[in-house]
Amino acid sequence: MIKIKKFTFSSFAENTYLLWDESSKETMIIDPGCSASYEEKELENFISSNKLSVKYLINTHCHIDHIFGCSFVKEKYKVPYYAPKKDIPLIEHFDKQTEFVEIEATAKPPLPDNFITEDLKLKLGETEPVFLFTPGHTPGEYCIYFPDDKFCITGDVLFQNSIGRTDLWGGDYDALLQSIKTKLLTLPDDTIIYPGHGDESTIGDEKKYNPFLVELNLW
Ligand SMILES: [Zn+2]
Repeated sequence: MIKIKKFTFSSFAENTYLLWDESSKETMIIDPGCSASYEEKELENFISSNKLSVKYLINTHCHIDHIFGCSFVKEKYKVPYYAPKKDIPLIEHFDKQTEFVEIEATAKPPLPDNFITEDLKLKLGETEPVFLFTPGHTPGEYCIYFPDDKFCITGDVLFQNSIGRTDLWGGDYDALLQSIKTKLLTLPDDTIIYPGHGDESTIGDEKKYNPFLVELNLW
């Protein structure tokens, strides 16, 4: 059984997720968006008070609001860092990204130790998540699906009642719709989605109520 804790960090209201296996406490940090020291403390305190053992640092994609806390996590927990290969230019141009959004930069994130692929096998206890290649919001984005626990981390691909923007570097509207259609709307309707911004939803509810998808008759 996988447990989830969501933090919402920075002025971007970015969702950072901690996922851990209930029995082994093995933990995955997804998209650490902590940029202020009190946010880093909040993350750190939760991890220590729940005696979690951090095993992986993972980015769904490498937009600035999702990578603010990477250097902190990497330094503090010395874990392997996984990110999409096609998003590396976003890490390399971290300074440009900070300039673009007019905010003060935190420490520049490290480059990943490993790239995410659809064949990537990582384990949290006995659970093996499935990595779904879902480009469009960025060229390299992956969603992370946990079939046994019936949920999917959807990054900035699919939100409650919305979809990811495609007007930033490397964005591709057609690719985004294709990703949603072939990789996400094919999941069971009762799959809970945990997006990179905003509240949880389900695949079934998004099929019914998401105005972007309903209008397009995507399925
Ligand atoms: Zn994004």
